[in-house]
Amino acid sequence: MPPISNEEIIQLTQQFRKILNYKPDEPIDILWVLEHAMRVIFEKDGFDFEVKDVDSMSEHAYTDPNTGKIIIREDIYDRACRGEGRDRFTIAHEIAHYILHANPSIARYPRIYPGDDVKPYEDSEWQADAFAGEFLCPCQVIRGMTPEEVADKFGVSVQAAKTQLKKSLRCFQ
Ligand SMILES: [Zn+2]
Repeated sequence: MPPISNEEIIQLTQQFRKILNYKPDEPIDILWVLEHAMRVIFEKDGFDFEVKDVDSMSEHAYTDPNTGKIIIREDIYDRACRGEGRDRFTIAHEIAHYILHANPSIARYPRIYPGDDVKPYEDSEWQADAFAGEFLCPCQVIRGMTPEEVADKFGVSVQAAKTQLKKSLRCFQ
C-alpha cells in the first residue's frame, strides 16, 4: 500500500466529517453514515453494504476490494446498532477501507518508495484503523480527556480511546 501519513489521515477525516456535517466534537452515528450518507456521497460509485448471518462468515466484517461492497456479520451489526464501541469501530474501519482502498473514483496516494521496508503506515489495516480512530474521536478534540470520557462521549471502547489518546499526544506536542 502507498503510505498515508498521520497528517493526511487527520485531514481526510476532517474533510469527511465536514461533508457529513459533523462538527469535530460531535459523536458519529456510524450506522447513519453506513446506511444513508455513504449511499448519497458515493451514489455514482454504487456504494453498497450487506449484513450476512453469523453462520455464513468467520470474519467480523470485510470490504470486497473488487466491488467495494462492505459485508458485515449480523451480530456485529446488531451490537453496533446498540452502540457497542468495538462494533461501531469495526464499521468505521470498513468505511475507511472503502474510502482509502476500494473506491476507484477517489485519489490514491501515489508516493511509493521502492526498496523501503514496509512501514506500519503502508499497511492497509493500520491505515483503516488510524482513519477509523481519528474519524470517531479526533485527536485534537480529545486532548486532556480521560479514556473513559472519550469512550463515553464518542462511543468507542476504552481500549480504542487509549490508543487514540496516545496518538493525540504524538500529533500535537
Ligand atoms: Zn481491515
